[in-house]
Amino acid sequence: RAVVHWFRADLRQRDNRGLCAAGAAARAAGVPLIGLYIVSPQDWAAHAASAARVDFALRSVARLRGDLDALDIPLHVETVGARGDIPARVAGLARRWGAREVYANMEYEVDELRRDARVVRRCAGEGVRVRVLHDTCVVPPGELKTGAGGQYAVYTPWFRAWVARVNGDGEVLREAEGPGRNPGDARERLRDVWEGAGEVPEAPEGMRMDKDERERMRKMWPAGEAEAWRRLGKFCEERIGAYAEKRNFPAADGTSSLSVHLAAGTLSARAAVRAARECSGKKTDKVDVGPEGVKTWISEVAWRDFYRHVLVHWPYVCMNKPFKPEYANIEWSYDKSHLTAWQEGRTGFPIVDAAMRQAAGTGWMHNRCRMIVASFLAKDLLLDWRLGERWFMEHLIDGDFASNSGGWGFGASVGVDPQPYFRIFNPLLQSEKFDPDGEYIRKWVPELRDVEGKAIHDPYGRGKGALAKKMGYPEPIVSHKECRERALKAYKAALEQD
Ligand code: FAD
Repeated sequence: RAVVHWFRADLRQRDNRGLCAAGAAARAAGVPLIGLYIVSPQDWAAHAASAARVDFALRSVARLRGDLDALDIPLHVETVGARGDIPARVAGLARRWGAREVYANMEYEVDELRRDARVVRRCAGEGVRVRVLHDTCVVPPGELKTGAGGQYAVYTPWFRAWVARVNGDGEVLREAEGPGRNPGDARERLRDVWEGAGEVPEAPEGMRMDKDERERMRKMWPAGEAEAWRRLGKFCEERIGAYAEKRNFPAADGTSSLSVHLAAGTLSARAAVRAARECSGKKTDKVDVGPEGVKTWISEVAWRDFYRHVLVHWPYVCMNKPFKPEYANIEWSYDKSHLTAWQEGRTGFPIVDAAMRQAAGTGWMHNRCRMIVASFLAKDLLLDWRLGERWFMEHLIDGDFASNSGGWGFGASVGVDPQPYFRIFNPLLQSEKFDPDGEYIRKWVPELRDVEGKAIHDPYGRGKGALAKKMGYPEPIVSHKECRERALKAYKAALEQD
């Protein structure tokens, strides 16, 4: 009597492979399509989801409901108390609605795969078939193999294979059809079994922002699919051309800030790549041809695929383990005051503090700065990288397990294809190179606004420090030179133990 599509991190109706298949199945069977979204506060808590991310997801669900309404497709939303109850609830709803099929897009993290395995089993017991499709990556995990038939652990050859796959098969980027409109009498037919669509709830207790904060975030990050397309169009029109030159400079509005949409699934990665390719100005289907900005941006979107492929092949990275097991032996410092200074943006290293305050103020941080603060936490402060990884998830609006874990693995040199451990970012040089005029620092660290010239990067060293001191800006909590030596020793010692 119905086909169900269960939305998770795919909160859109356009270019959604699972939804497309569900719509086709419903049409073929002449039955209505029902959308389902389950709010699971325990899952959010277990995965350290930030209040901003939870709010963004719920707002996007409300938008999605509006979009689906226009197609006469109802979106049922309900909250489950215990995440272990999800399989029974999905099976129960399918039974109640008389659905023989439930569709969804695959989530590759270990917890989610386990949940889905239980859902499949439970539904099978009720005679309901669950179909989980690949959707979130441009190239599904498992399709790209090294010459020896294994998974790539290095980005560059992996990217070559990725490009060859995308260029070689028109299907890879093909836009999935929309779900189609439900027949006019669909709701009528559901009347006996339909218990109402359920309100899109407020964020659960303990995951709510206060009113002012919520309003600020909502203004900064409008949710939903239409907004994702608007942002994508504007970026392609105005900024992608200069992306290659500007993307490393945090003061420049040089990147797309689409990560929040790609993480919530209000935009598909395929759509992002297609849009970039279409604005390349060349009549080509290839993703490695065209202006530098376009090619570079596509290669960044590909990093998102890369880290998902890694996670599927080496699932232990989902379990708080470093990709490189030998680095499990590093003796971290666990200095609480250092961690607090890092979290609060009060380390006395202006570029680090500016970045941490940008994250606190907007829920987002520039990629260059993510690398700088990750390296600073793991190497200068010798704090366990997992503390930083968790803090990012707890505060960022675009928190995405695979990209975050991959990024931290890179910065702390414990991950796949990482920065070699002996390459330790010097925060001062990074600051001078990527924020040469101190514009980014001045924006986020108001205490330093009046510090002139190069002293902005190092107000107590290069500057006299009087102004910074007067304004209450802290002195550096550590000496980079000494910390560098300490980090080299700690990493080396871990390798020698192995
Ligand atoms: P753009 O430069 O416009 O890139 C377009 C898209 O490509 C991004 O939206 C993103 O989906 C993808 N992308 C770009 N760079 C990367 C990358 N290095 N790794 C994976 N995907 C990439 N990204 C997240 O989406 N969520 C995270 O939680 C996250 N945590 C990170 C933690 C660390 C320590 C580091 C170093 C990087 C992290 N990244 C994360 C990757 C990257 O910093 C962000 O995707 C990017 O800054 C988002 O801004 P943008 O949308 O303007 O990116």
